[in-house]
Amino acid sequence: MADADPRQPATDNAALRRQFDLQHLASRRHPPAGLKLRLDRIDRLAALVRSNVDRFAAAISEDFGVRARIETELMELVPTLGAIRHARKNLVKWMRPEKRHVSINFQPGKAWVRHEPLGVIGIISPWNYPLQLALSPLVDAIAAGNRALIKPSELTPAFAELLKETVAGQFDEEEVAVVTGGVEIGRAFSSLPFDHLLFTGSTAVGRQVYKAAAENLVPVTLELGGKSPVILCDDYPLPKAARSIAFGKFLNAGQTCIAPDYVLVPRHKAEALADALLAEVRQSYPTVAGNPDYSGVISQRHRDRLLGAIEAARSGGATVMTHGEAEAASAGKVPPTVVLNAPEETILASEEIFGPILPIVPYDSLDEAIAFVNGRDRPLALYCFTKDQWRERHVLDRTISGGVTLNGTLLHIAQESLPFGGVGASGIGAYHGKEGFKRFSHARAVHKVGAWNAFEKLGPPWGNFARRVAK
Ligand code: NAD
Repeated sequence: MADADPRQPATDNAALRRQFDLQHLASRRHPPAGLKLRLDRIDRLAALVRSNVDRFAAAISEDFGVRARIETELMELVPTLGAIRHARKNLVKWMRPEKRHVSINFQPGKAWVRHEPLGVIGIISPWNYPLQLALSPLVDAIAAGNRALIKPSELTPAFAELLKETVAGQFDEEEVAVVTGGVEIGRAFSSLPFDHLLFTGSTAVGRQVYKAAAENLVPVTLELGGKSPVILCDDYPLPKAARSIAFGKFLNAGQTCIAPDYVLVPRHKAEALADALLAEVRQSYPTVAGNPDYSGVISQRHRDRLLGAIEAARSGGATVMTHGEAEAASAGKVPPTVVLNAPEETILASEEIFGPILPIVPYDSLDEAIAFVNGRDRPLALYCFTKDQWRERHVLDRTISGGVTLNGTLLHIAQESLPFGGVGASGIGAYHGKEGFKRFSHARAVHKVGAWNAFEKLGPPWGNFARRVAK
């Protein structure tokens, strides 16, 4: 195992290149990983997570100022261990070659697809769920037989150093390694000739990563952000919807890529929904400042952005309802906030919020709500609350999003059997489970010529033959 110093400074460009070259050369020199080695790597990853639960929870809480331990367990450790179990259980099936049809002209030949490792996968991860978003792509990458290099976010330094130390304790640096650093290292990282690069982060940085990868023809998976809408239909019980929406929104103080960004609600219910959401918030978080269940916002820059958005909405004439605003400011937190009638030109109506502020947008007809969603970039997630099958179908048929949870929020990401990814501005490609395995595999086409082969006789001089083939 590599003997890394857990407190060494951010990786420099030369060390990054050396680390990449080590894995790249190993991937070309050694035969691709078979089932046994893949399972062993998955087991080592499971051991890494299981034996450091307390340390990971503490490091993440330190980086956030406050993050409830149960949130770290529910949103980071449980899904990562779930992904590990799912991969372990299904790997033999996923690795099995897929038999394909052979047309009559080529029989008795055979055709199949082998899913083979690509080589070295680069993983750039964000700060909001630092463990889950670094390690669940890693599960898929090593299940597919690859080596991997991870660059976590500089905004979670305690977590990043711990990840580096624990990865070095379980993996040889030729197999899996972690490099640390900020934007400059991110830039250098995305310019390396990986066999595949998975980036999770903002759409703006995603564009830069896509360009850098294109220089080397590196295929990418881009897991980006966006404004994920909730469409609340008239038939659905409002208190029940408010509970799910408040849960999905205020968890981790709204710093969840698939958190509801805004809620579309029948006009006559808008105020009642705002009241119900505030009531949910008060019940879930009786206090804000010293409450360990209510997460901090990751940095001063993000706090300023969010507090500025609240002020802009207020001065633009919106109705702004907050809980614990005065005490939140003293603790460096952003209060849970519901906004009615946010002006179109404010950040609330145009950019991804990524914090504990929830605008409510009234609509007069379901088609108007659908048009509102379709007038914006394609979202990462969409939520629809209805018991009516026609409305459910109508919303599903008329909108496009990376994923959907019906009558709930966030829960589609927890389904190991479903792909997870965005569409349009919210991302390119999906991973998790079988889709993740395939994402990091090369689908290699194999055709085995049969003992009897009509094509043996095919060839010039063509004579009359050419006239007979294209009938
Ligand atoms: P970010 O784009 O600022 O940073 C993400 C990572 O990219 C970090 O590791 C950062 O160091 C690195 N980076 C920064 N500039 C870079 C550059 N020029 N080249 C290469 N790498 C660079 O995102 P963030 O603030 O860490 O995360 C928040 C965003 O991520 C939100 O938009 C959120 O919606 C999105 N997100 C998406 C998902 C998803 O699964 N789709 C999950 C979580 C977060």
